[in-house]
Amino acid sequence: MTQATIDFAQFPRVALCHQPTPIEPMKRLSGHLGGPSLFIKRDDCTGLATGGNKTRKLEFLVGEALKAKADMLVTQGAVQSNHVRQTAAAACHVGLKCHVVLERRVPGRDASYEETGNVFLDKMFGATSEFRPAGLDMNAQAEAVCDKLRAEGHSPYFIPGGGSNATGALGYASCAQEIAQQCASGGMSFDWLVMGTGSTGTQAGLVAGFQAIGYDLPVMGVSVRQPHERQVAAVHGLTQKTLDVLGGPAIGADKILVDDGYVGEGYGIPADTTLEAIRLTARQEGILLDPVYSGKGMAGLIGMVRGGFFKPDERVLFLHTGGSTALFAYEDQILASMG
Ligand SMILES: *Cc1c(COP(=O)(O)O)cnc(C)c1O
Repeated sequence: MTQATIDFAQFPRVALCHQPTPIEPMKRLSGHLGGPSLFIKRDDCTGLATGGNKTRKLEFLVGEALKAKADMLVTQGAVQSNHVRQTAAAACHVGLKCHVVLERRVPGRDASYEETGNVFLDKMFGATSEFRPAGLDMNAQAEAVCDKLRAEGHSPYFIPGGGSNATGALGYASCAQEIAQQCASGGMSFDWLVMGTGSTGTQAGLVAGFQAIGYDLPVMGVSVRQPHERQVAAVHGLTQKTLDVLGGPAIGADKILVDDGYVGEGYGIPADTTLEAIRLTARQEGILLDPVYSGKGMAGLIGMVRGGFFKPDERVLFLHTGGSTALFAYEDQILASMG
């Protein structure tokens, strides 16, 4: 049961998102795996420029940018960042310029990786960009770019990588409340929520939101990059900051659940389990995942089902965070895995 309601009207916000996004059963995938009943929350259908989880964060981040009278959004991400693409689109929607700093984070890709998929859409939305080699502190790089832009007379608003600060995480606190409301009005309940976790704002926002409204739904983050301890600490830190903004009760690190068994060789490198998850979800449900995030998240869900993590009568909700645009930057590898 929900004990409290958060009034999100207290925060600056711009409407960018189709919401509520649907919750749908995955009947064929559930049957194929022979495990618990699997459902999917379609945050790939948030509507902004092919959709995805960054839309909800950007509602609050762009709200703050407009309040600060910025004339430009500045952010950073990996070359095939979905966050960068959605930020570029949001900037167009509200009439701001957009400048992005792209990290060559994924090794061994060919030249087309920097032209297709999300990079192609960044250009369509008129974002200007500059590249960096892998391994730098990218938020510091983007903040230095903001300083330079300010000296040139611009008014940039800086959005950290993935939109993951307490402002962006409000988008997923609001999604937590949306899920609780959908369950109440639809007479549904879930025992687990499973999702891919990267820059942490999505998981932190969900956990903070459920905690603030007193709703008991454990959130299992499947890491796409960092080892368990680092990801738990990062998610916990941002959950606390978000709870401070929401005025909710503090939460222990033991409530931050992360499985790091599906990262494979690293960020942006699909593991065999990632490719299998993409294939199964396409062929069983007609739903597109992505090779960097939701494919790894779903690989985690599939692995947990096969490993007996869930009880047979449990109901498990997978959060589809979007990202299918990046499929086009991995076409050869994905087709080779399809059989
Ligand atoms: C950014 C992203 C995630 C991870 O969300 P974080 O808030 O960065 O943890 C998951 N899926 C997709 C498709 C993303 O683009």
